[in-house]
Amino acid sequence: MINFDNTYARLPDRFYAHVVPAKVPAPSLVGLNEALAEELGLDPVWLSSAEGLAMLSGNQLPKEADPIAQAYAGHQFGGWVPELGDGRAILLGEVIDLHGKRRDLQLKGSGQTPFSRRGDGKATLGSAIREYLCSEAMAALNVPTTRALAVVATGEIVPREHAHPGGILTRIAGSHIRVGTFQYFQGLQDQDALRQLADHAMKRHFPEATQAQNPYLAFFERVVAAQASLIAKWMQLGFIHGVMNTDNMTISGETIDFGPCAFIDSFHPDKVFSSIDRHGRYAWSNQPQAAHWNLARLGDALSPLIAKDPAAGKTLISAALDRFPHVFKEAYHSGFAAKFGLLSIAEKEEQFIADSLQFMAEQEVDFTLFFRELTRIAGGSESARLRELLGSRAGVEEWIADWKVLTEGEDDERVRVMQDCNPVLIPRNHRVEQAIQAAEAGEFGVFRRLAEAWSEPFAEHEEVSDLEEPPLSHEVVCETFCGT
Ligand code: AMP
Ligand code: MG
Repeated sequence: MINFDNTYARLPDRFYAHVVPAKVPAPSLVGLNEALAEELGLDPVWLSSAEGLAMLSGNQLPKEADPIAQAYAGHQFGGWVPELGDGRAILLGEVIDLHGKRRDLQLKGSGQTPFSRRGDGKATLGSAIREYLCSEAMAALNVPTTRALAVVATGEIVPREHAHPGGILTRIAGSHIRVGTFQYFQGLQDQDALRQLADHAMKRHFPEATQAQNPYLAFFERVVAAQASLIAKWMQLGFIHGVMNTDNMTISGETIDFGPCAFIDSFHPDKVFSSIDRHGRYAWSNQPQAAHWNLARLGDALSPLIAKDPAAGKTLISAALDRFPHVFKEAYHSGFAAKFGLLSIAEKEEQFIADSLQFMAEQEVDFTLFFRELTRIAGGSESARLRELLGSRAGVEEWIADWKVLTEGEDDERVRVMQDCNPVLIPRNHRVEQAIQAAEAGEFGVFRRLAEAWSEPFAEHEEVSDLEEPPLSHEVVCETFCGT
């Protein structure tokens, strides 16, 4: 039994379509996130029961659920698509968690909706596993993100390029409202709906904005700031989202849609993994510009709410957008300063960060191991492994000497700061692939081991020290796919 309270489903009919999840033949629970269940006030024992599995597979919903597919639009790789919507996701309803926060509970992969176009509305088990692992790791790495409550194998075959076992992910989000949700009503020139959506999203995510002189502008400013800080956090982990289309950007500031995403092993700012990102639009270093562009689209959509006079609206929106680079830079520099163990940040340190990232790219060093080794050295360890990582190329000794000059003294504080932001483990792409391949063969031990290890990414545990290592040459993942 779940106390759903479905405020989104009480918005006007044109915000969504009522849908019923497709039934699946032989559901089985592959993974259940017990800690998250408890945080949501849900009983893990009930969720693992036949009734719980019936809900997580979409076969039978509790009567309090009000399943809908949400309408949205979006710019995909810069091209306008006036209607996208949940084509393979169904929102069952909202629950209030133990902290009093409203959270969406959504099934991803449970069949067609009016927004499916030619798609089957299904998900492969592999894609559900990927999203579970990556979103849960992101949460443990202290990055705002949607969460994963469960993965179910459906017992169906889902035809893609090859035949794959089907799966359903239960996704939890502060909300699934996207930049593209606003664009949908902008496209329809439906100002009434825009206002209701903005009021709903503001109350849910930034209630303090309702008190501002211009609430819609204050709301927009908060979304801009949330996204600027999010992108900085991604970059500090070497994370590349891969599909930063406006339909994949939340209003809440949570990371959403772990499709062809990747975590960088050997660092280069131009890295791209997604097979569909042919021109590197969403490369590691392009992510702030992409987010800024998306937010400009949100500004366009909100403009009539922000000011009656379009020229006045434009001025206010531009000023709000101009805050993006400042908030981003501040978050980027303070975050990287902490990673390098710099306890204060001024022009000299900013330059050091830029030079060091360039140096790391030239050395093709493993991003995560580099910062780990630096943390160890700050804690008094030998620097042999760092030298081994960097190889014997020119500039290594000079770089280490420069870093030492900038990081003298106050060792305890420095080590604590570095340990708190330089993870021991990240969801390395080759490990995610191994979990997917094993799951496709019906073996879930790899998935469970990774989920457990990545729930504590800052801790050193001997049993999982193999997960610290970069891929061997034959294990390197060069390209990632949506794998829907
Ligand atoms: P994404 O690339 O996951 O952000 O999805 C972009 C759009 O394609 C969204 O409107 C999805 O609902 C839709 N979509 C993706 N995969 C499927 C599928 N298998 N069946 C139906 N719609 C899909
Ligand atoms: Mg999407």
